[in-house]
Amino acid sequence: MSRSDEPQGFSLRLLPSVEKLLASPEIMPLVARYSHTLVTRAIQQVLAELRRDAPVRHAVPSKKDIAAQVARLLNAQWPGFLSHVVNATGIILHTNLGRAPLSSGALEAIARLGGTYLNLESDLDTGERGARTPELRRLLNALTGAEDALAVNNNAAAVLLILVALAHGKEAIVSRGELVQIGGGFRVPEIMAQSGVILREVGTTNRTSVGDYAQAISGNTAILLKVHPSNFIQRGFVCDASLAELAELGRVYSLPVVYDLGSGALLDSAVYGLRHEPTVQEALRDGADLVSFSGDKLLGGPQAGIVVGRSSCVQLLLKHPFFRVARLDKLSSVALAATLRHYLNNDAVEQVPVWRMMALTPSEIARRAEAVAAPLKARGVMAEIREGCSLVGGGSLPEETLPTALLALKPNGNPEDFVRRLRLADPPLIARIEDGRVLLDLRTVMAEQDNLIVSLVIEAWLQGVGNC
Ligand SMILES: *Cc1c(COP(=O)(O)O)cnc(C)c1O
Repeated sequence: MSRSDEPQGFSLRLLPSVEKLLASPEIMPLVARYSHTLVTRAIQQVLAELRRDAPVRHAVPSKKDIAAQVARLLNAQWPGFLSHVVNATGIILHTNLGRAPLSSGALEAIARLGGTYLNLESDLDTGERGARTPELRRLLNALTGAEDALAVNNNAAAVLLILVALAHGKEAIVSRGELVQIGGGFRVPEIMAQSGVILREVGTTNRTSVGDYAQAISGNTAILLKVHPSNFIQRGFVCDASLAELAELGRVYSLPVVYDLGSGALLDSAVYGLRHEPTVQEALRDGADLVSFSGDKLLGGPQAGIVVGRSSCVQLLLKHPFFRVARLDKLSSVALAATLRHYLNNDAVEQVPVWRMMALTPSEIARRAEAVAAPLKARGVMAEIREGCSLVGGGSLPEETLPTALLALKPNGNPEDFVRRLRLADPPLIARIEDGRVLLDLRTVMAEQDNLIVSLVIEAWLQGVGNC
């Protein structure tokens, strides 16, 4: 005879079937997220464990408990599944969170053209195969005044393409002050080495003059390269050769001057109290033969590398086999064209999220933060509004900040735990910690996500209370 507190086991017939579980309201959202196949496998695994443990358990677990176990298993097995994230970091171009969110115009263009055939490389006039997306070329020409343009997969590829097409086996002259590393893995000397271009360093880390470039020019020189240091600032006893000076030197020696501009702003960042970031138009006006930049930094479009400039140079790039390797895919081409059209329509500041976020004033952000704080306080969350700073990010405008209003939360327990619970919420909410407070910056939160923040914070707050 067994004592009553000993597990009795349960009949295996009491376990729900795979089909019943798949059709349950707890499991259906998991199917939407992970697919029928993956959820079925996870259910089978959980049921197998329950069958094995059946003899030593008190009672059959509920469908809800089984669903929770399936969800935990799937989350553990597939931690990297792409899901949308609420970015409350105040970092506008957050590289870990996908850099620039697309405009609704760009999304509509993808929705309109992505599921159908399109004249991607077809000249409708002749019926022949045509250039890939001549529209991009015309848009970039209209916006920047460049003679010619092309787009590849990202700016790293654009720089590599320029180097292999214009300088393979020859020398590129670069200032020692510009041999920088940008983000994860883009290092100017390593890109040079990979492209088979001989790096001819001139000047010093802090000072390089146009005379240093002039002295280094030889019969083996192919280009003069200027690199925007992007995420890196030098102060004090520093000087570099201006693009205009280099362009003048390039003209004298008939050498192309290439500028890796990085961010690719078409609008003036100084309007928002930031340092003036050189624009693509200015780089061309200063005489660069080729300018390259990213599509998903200050341009605010899809990942892309754009090259604009002198037609004779751009045509050499188009003919190089590496162009085919690095070409931009059709959906990004469509999104990039739609993004560029915002600039031509003069509605980029309203429509392109990166610029819309930059243009938000602290009082607009404070109003939204107050509206989020009110229902939180009503539920007992300790929340207040305080002044703070947002960042542009993405390697653009380092040390430059935008004044903002922060929603500061004081969790009962450890702030690290609270931030982790927010990060593991569905959808994840990314916040930061400063002197014991969890800070949410609504500048980078889409306005329609404000209500979502209320429910995510309350959920994480209640979990914390439960743990005490
Ligand atoms: C960001 C950046 C790159 C790399 O651009 P991706 O589009 O990320 O490949 C290259 N050069 C400079 C100066 C940059 O700022």
